[in-house]
Parts: sequence; C-alpha cells; structure tokens
Amino acid sequence: MATQPPLADDAGAIRRWAARAWLEMDNAGVLPTPQNFDLWFTHVSGANPELSQQIAAVAGGQPVTPAALQDLHARFGAAKTDVDAIVERAEAIQRGAQSMITLVAGNTEHLHHYGNTLSHWSARLNEDRTLENLLQAVTILSAETAKASERNRALEQQLAAATARIARLKDGMEELRREATTDTLTGLVNRKAFSTRLRRALADARTDGFGVSVLMIDVDYFKRVNDTYGHAAGDLVLRLIGRLLGESVKGRDTAARFGGEEFAVLLVRADLKGATTVANQIRVAVESKQLFRKRVSDEAVRITVSVGVAQFRPNETAAALLERADAALYQAKSLGRNQVCAAQ
Ligand code: GH3
Ligand code: MG
Ligand code: MG
Repeated sequence: MATQPPLADDAGAIRRWAARAWLEMDNAGVLPTPQNFDLWFTHVSGANPELSQQIAAVAGGQPVTPAALQDLHARFGAAKTDVDAIVERAEAIQRGAQSMITLVAGNTEHLHHYGNTLSHWSARLNEDRTLENLLQAVTILSAETAKASERNRALEQQLAAATARIARLKDGMEELRREATTDTLTGLVNRKAFSTRLRRALADARTDGFGVSVLMIDVDYFKRVNDTYGHAAGDLVLRLIGRLLGESVKGRDTAARFGGEEFAVLLVRADLKGATTVANQIRVAVESKQLFRKRVSDEAVRITVSVGVAQFRPNETAAALLERADAALYQAKSLGRNQVCAAQ
C-alpha cells in the first residue's frame, strides 16, 4: 500500500497494534477485510499521520460510510492492485504486439517465396517461350497468386482482430489512468493529479509568461454538518460542492478535491484579479445553492466556503504558491468565513 510500513519490529507492539486495529474497526463498523485491516493497522501503528488524521475525521465515534471508506482506500491503499492491473495490461499489450510481429514475419516469408516463384518463371519464359512452358507458368503463377492473396486476406483479418484487441487494452489502460487521477467521492481530479497539472502549468508559465493562479477552498464549519446530520449527509454535501466546482471550472482550468473538505482550483492565464473574481463566483454559487435540506423541517442548510487566492510568482515553487494560497484561506477564515482573500 501507499503508506509506510510500521517502524517497530517488536512482536509485542505488532500484536497490540493488530488487536487495536481490530477493535477500532469494530467500533467504526468497518469489516476486517485484508485491505481494511491494512489501513487500520498502519493507522494505529502511527506510521502514517495523514492516514490517522483522515480516519479520525471520518470515524470520529460514528460508523464510517462506504463512500468515506472507498475514499480512504483510494488515497492510502489500492496502490498495489493498480500496479498489478497495469503490469497485467502491459503484458497483454506486449503479447498482442508479439503476435502481430509473428503474423507479419510469417507473411514476409510467404511473400519472399511468391517473389522467388515470379522471378523464376519470368527468367524461364525469357529463355524458353514454348506453349507448354507458358501454360505451366500460367498455371503455377495463378495458383501462387491466389494463395498469396488468400494469405493476405487472412493476414488482414488477423491484423484487424489484433488491432481491435490492442485498442480494447488501450481503453482499459485509459480507464485505469482515469481511476488513478480521480477522487472517488466527487469525481473531480484528485490531489496527486492536481499537483502534476500545477507543476506543468508553472513550467509553461515560466516559459510563456502567462499568469497562473490557484484557489484553495475550504468548507466552513463542516464538522457541524457531520455532527448534526451525520457523515453520509456530509459526503453528499462534498459531492454537491464537487459538482458545482466541476461546472464552474472548465476548459484548461482544473478543479480538484485536495483532501477532506478542501478543494483546489488551478486557473491558467488568470491574474490575481481575475482569479479573485472566479473565487467570488464560486463562493456565491455555493452560498446561494440550497445544497441540501433537513428532512424534517425542510429548512435549507446553509453551506458556505472560504477561499484563498494566490498568483504564481516567477521562481516560486508549487509548494510555496500553495502555501501562500493556504495562508490567504486562513485569513478568510479568521475574517469570519464565507469570504475570499487574495495573497499579496
Ligand atoms: P472551518 O470553518 O474552520 O474550516 O471548520 P470545519 O469544521 O470545516 O473544520 P475542521 O477542520 O475542524 O473539520 C473538518 C471536518 O471535515 C472534519 C471531518 O469530520 C470532516 N471531513 C473530512 N473529510 C471528510 C469526508 O470525506 N467526508 C465527511 N463526511 N467528512 C469529512
Ligand atoms: Mg479543512
Ligand atoms: Mg472546513
């Protein structure tokens, strides 16, 4: 898995962690499957603080929802199965390529033979143009030509089948790549894919000089949503905010779930002013959308977000840019939330 193995190799500690992992999973209503156990064992061993923090956030005395569990696996587990699946598909593609090479090579031999027959009879007819010879040449050449064309037809069919097989494998690889870069809860780009796109955008900005800005978005008082309505409702809110972000950020720009109840947006060719406008549009869209209603009173639950905006400075690293956006977000929180702050 993506997490680090526990540091201690002391048998007593391992037994204690295993027992605690079991107990904690039981309390959180999580089945002790090998994959779940792997996550909880790593968590109680303290080897991955980010994982522990996330488990504490989604478990927090309540049953973990299937969506939150899936999210944990997507972020902290499953790396091994992805790799297996990729290796499997790569091998299948390699086998496909090999069979095409064999087909083509086999046909090259046949073509070579056909070519030899043609030149043999062409030479013979040059020397000896008797009727008998001509008849024999016509008979043999027409038979050989029919054979060659039949072989070519078969080869064409086999090549078409192999091409279709490889295209299907390629689709499978695309699907895997999509899974690896997508956040399971919201369907937005995940943090890893966001970082890759950000690094690429910064490299482009360094050469072409266009402005690049990022927004860090955090849901206000989200813990209250979970505490009041339960984690499933919290997940639903995150999914709805994800959809809203996906709809407001299109084209070259990227909206991502950064983790937990935090989202990030990458705006290429946007300066601080433009990015602040987009941030405010998002903030207003969330605020005015009645994301979900309490079932009993049918009263809309108000969800707001705070946003930090930062524009890329030449020679700045991606981490430094995100840090500045994060500091601006912190400022928006301390100024009362449901607002946008731009980093200077
Ligand atoms: P603030 O306005 O300061 O941001 O307050 P907050 O309550 O939003 O912030 P805090 O960081 O205290 O709480 C974040 C909460 O987000 C804690 C955790 O229960 C919840 N959370 C994180 N990830 C998930 C998730 O995937 N699903 C659900 N339902 N809740 C999550
Ligand atoms: Mg937060
Ligand atoms: Mg929050």
